[in-house]
Formats: sequence, structure tokens, C-alpha cells
Amino acid sequence: MISDLNGKMYIGGTMMAAQSATVAVFDPATGDKIGMVGAATAAEIEAAVSAARAAFGPWSGLPAKARSGYLHRLGDVIAADADAMARLMTLEQGKPVNEARGEILKLAETCHFYAEEAVRIHGETIPNDTNDFDSTVLREPIGVVGAITPWNYPAELVGWKLCGALAAGCTIVIKPAEITPFTALAIGAKCIDAGIPAGVVNVITGPGSEVGQAMVEHKGIDKIAFTGSSKVGLRIQQSATSVKRMALELGGNCPMIVTASADLKAAVAGAARRSFRNCGQICIAINRIYVARPIYESFLIQLAQAADGLRVANGLTDPCADLGPMASAEPLGKTREHLADALSKGARLLAGGAAPQGAEFAKGHFFRPTVLADCTHDMHIMTEETFGPIVGIAPFDTLTEAVALANDTPYGLASYVYSKASDDIRYLSRGLDYGSVAVNTVDAGIINAPYGGRKQSGLGYEHGREGMLEYMNFKHIRVRFDLPEGA
Ligand code: NAD
Repeated sequence: MISDLNGKMYIGGTMMAAQSATVAVFDPATGDKIGMVGAATAAEIEAAVSAARAAFGPWSGLPAKARSGYLHRLGDVIAADADAMARLMTLEQGKPVNEARGEILKLAETCHFYAEEAVRIHGETIPNDTNDFDSTVLREPIGVVGAITPWNYPAELVGWKLCGALAAGCTIVIKPAEITPFTALAIGAKCIDAGIPAGVVNVITGPGSEVGQAMVEHKGIDKIAFTGSSKVGLRIQQSATSVKRMALELGGNCPMIVTASADLKAAVAGAARRSFRNCGQICIAINRIYVARPIYESFLIQLAQAADGLRVANGLTDPCADLGPMASAEPLGKTREHLADALSKGARLLAGGAAPQGAEFAKGHFFRPTVLADCTHDMHIMTEETFGPIVGIAPFDTLTEAVALANDTPYGLASYVYSKASDDIRYLSRGLDYGSVAVNTVDAGIINAPYGGRKQSGLGYEHGREGMLEYMNFKHIRVRFDLPEGA
């Protein structure tokens, strides 16, 4: 599949050779170069935005049922090729093939979900002070969307934007992260297979500071839908040169609270899954855990055992591995920094703390799942996003203290609670200042409920009906009527 996408961009319905294919893409498990993609030139950016602009009128003018049909077909062609797309994702991102296949199938599910939402775009009629007026509120698509995405979920984070936008009647220009461009290009190729009209979807590649920034500043783009770090999100918000809509899905520093009544086994399993899956490179990864003091030591012992039991391997040759390599040297470096900082301030290392040994790990960005106990809020691990396979743990004595510690962060994306006491669950879930609170589960998101952050974790929502309405404007039409003659 890579050979079909190497050095290509998808513009105006054609998979075309990039003018300047200078960005190398590497396998994070071996360090081998797997291909090259373009650094979009000003002409290519212009061509993609123009194609999306030209396609907007016809696409938004289609009956909703027709747009729905295209999205259903896209979901079908993606699901039918899930194995090949998953292997491609593993090659550039590192997550084990089984996990990558799960992500591709969720992308297909997103296509079908928004295909169904597309036919449910409806407005409202609003009462006026007198009966001779009708107020109708219509929903209309915003226009051309610029989607800028990170590398941790290279398919789903493109898909939430693409499907919400297309269902609403918008067209889109997508710029994926530099290190995982091929998955987005593969999605572009699937748009051809699904017969989606030329120009409705475009995929351009290249450095964020140049190509992404040019999209932010482009007057032909009506909305930026961005997922990435809070730092870049803020820069995007501050650097737009014209007023445009923005959705910013940013970083997190997500807490988990385990109360004394919790099912300890379930809490440990949840913590291991959400701290270490995808090597912790998840915006809603559990970064820090607060455990009720009576069960603190038991929780530590069991989580350390669970972490040591996870298998780290090359996810291409070992599709069922628990952890592959990290996606690049950068998040691995930050993981090591946060580990050293915590240890220097008194944290106890209970599991991991180093790369796995062996020749097969020598060239990749591997790191063992790492558990730190007795952490405090003067350690970076408890206050900053690590984006690595490491978690910090601390005890608490009262629920008020647990909520205060959990909310002691500039972020507000997702939080987790394990408890069997309904009063405690109610108190904690109301008190946590987060866009999502998951209780007795660590799968915080479902496609049909809104997902978004607050505070420095961002603006706007993806998933659910809200994830489509983000791509629409309201229009209020107020009409005054006279009584017909003779009435
Ligand atoms: P990043 O912010 O470095 O890059 C994200 C995207 O922005 C990339 O495509 C990059 O090329 C582009 N970019 C960089 N500079 C730009 C600029 N000046 N103008 C426009 N675009 C620019 O993030 P990353 O390292 O790729 O991803 C990890 C981050 O993403 C983490 O902080 C994580 O929490 C966050 N994230 C958030 C969510 C969410 O839903 N809230 C989901 C996944 C990841």
C-alpha cells in the first residue's frame, strides 16, 4: 500500500505526485525509512483549498440522503481493507496491528454514524411575541474546513473531522502529522474508491509550522478543526489572520480516583489499560492515580504486577503485543525526563523505568510500562502531560482532597473514578472539572456522545450529533405575515 501513496498528495480527486517530496517517514520499531511524503508548496496548498471551495457548492447542495450514501460507502470500503490499513498504520505509528485494526474499524463505524446523522439535520421554529411572525432557524454548512491532526490516532482523529464535516455539507482539506501521513493518504484513496466527488476531500502533507500554519492563515478556509498539543492549539488561536471558526482538541493530564469501596481488580485492570495502551500516547491516558489510603499499598503491588505482565514487542511482527514502540524519539525523551524528575523528588519506582533489553529493541523507541508511587504535585508527572507509558500514584484521605488534587491542573479533558459507593460516585463525578468522567470503566468515549475538553484542553466537541453541528452555522429567518384576504 505504501508504494501507491509514497510521495503523493490527494488534491482535487487525484492522487498526484508531490512537487517536493522531502519529508521522510520512519518505522518507529526499527528506525528504517519507510517512505517519503511532500512538504506542500504554496501552489499545492492553494490547489487543495481551491478544489475544496469549488466542490463546496455542489456537495452542500446534494440531498442529505446522497451525502449519507457516500459516507456509508466510505465506511464499507475502509472496513473491507482494514487489515492492510492497519499494517500501514503500525508501520508508521508503532501500535500493534490488532490495536491498529481496531482503530480502522472504529473509523468505519464513524463513517456509518455520521452517514446516519446527515439525514437528521433539522432546524427549529421559535415562537414570537405576536402571532403574525414565524421564526425559523436553519442549519447550514460552514464551508471549507482545514483539519490538522496529530500522530497518536492517525485514522480516528482524521475520521471524526472528515465524517462530521462531510455529513454537515462541508468540504475538507486534511493535513496529518508529519510522522504518520500515510494513514491519512490511505483514507484519501478510500474516498476515491467510495466515489466521493473530486475536491470534497483533499489530503496535503508537510511540516505543521509551514503547511499547517498556512492553512490557519488561509482566507479560503472557514474553519480550523485541530487536534494536537495545547501549545500549538494556542498558537493557532492567536495566529489566525481572519475570523474563522475553530475547534481545538488539545492536551490532557487525566486523573483517576480509586475509592476504598472500589473493585480493586477492576480498578487495576482499568489503570493498566488506560495508562499504557498505545504507550500512553493518548490525550485521555491516565497520567496520575489517587488511591484511598486503606487500599493504597495493595493497589500499588497489583498495578506493578500488571505493568510487568504487559508484553512489549514490534507490533508488526507480533500483532497481539500489548505495547509497540513509541511513535518517535520526542515522547520517549519526555517520558525519561518525567521519570528522572519524579525519582529525584522522592517517587518510588515499582515497575519499568527503562527500555526492554534485547537486540530486537535496540533501534526502536521502546520503553517498559512504568509505575511510580508516592508522587506529589511538585513532580512534572502529576501536573504535565507526559504522553508516555508512565503513571504516578499518590494516596488520599478524603474525597474532598481527591477532587482538589484531581482538579489541580490547567487541563480538563477526561477523568476516571473506580468506586462501588453511589454517593461517592455522585460526589466525585459532579466535582470533577472535566469534559468526560468515566466511572468503573476506562473507555471514556463513545461515538454517539459528545467528547471535548475544557480549560487548556480545548474548545468544541467531536463525536455525537454535536460533532456534526460544529460544522454548521445557524440562520434565523423571521417572516411577518398578513392575514389572507377574507380570513
Ligand atoms: P502537535 O501539536 O505537535 O501537532 C499536531 C498537528 O499540528 C500536526 O499535524 C502538526 O504538524 C501541526 N502543527 C504543528 N505546528 C503547527 C502550526 N504552527 N500551525 C498549524 N499546525 C501546526 O501535537 P502532536 O505531538 O502531533 O500530538 C500530541 C498532542 O495531541 C498531545 O498533546 C495530545 O494530548 C494531543 N491530542 C489531543 C486529543 C484530543 O482529542 N483532545 C486527541 C489526540 C491527541
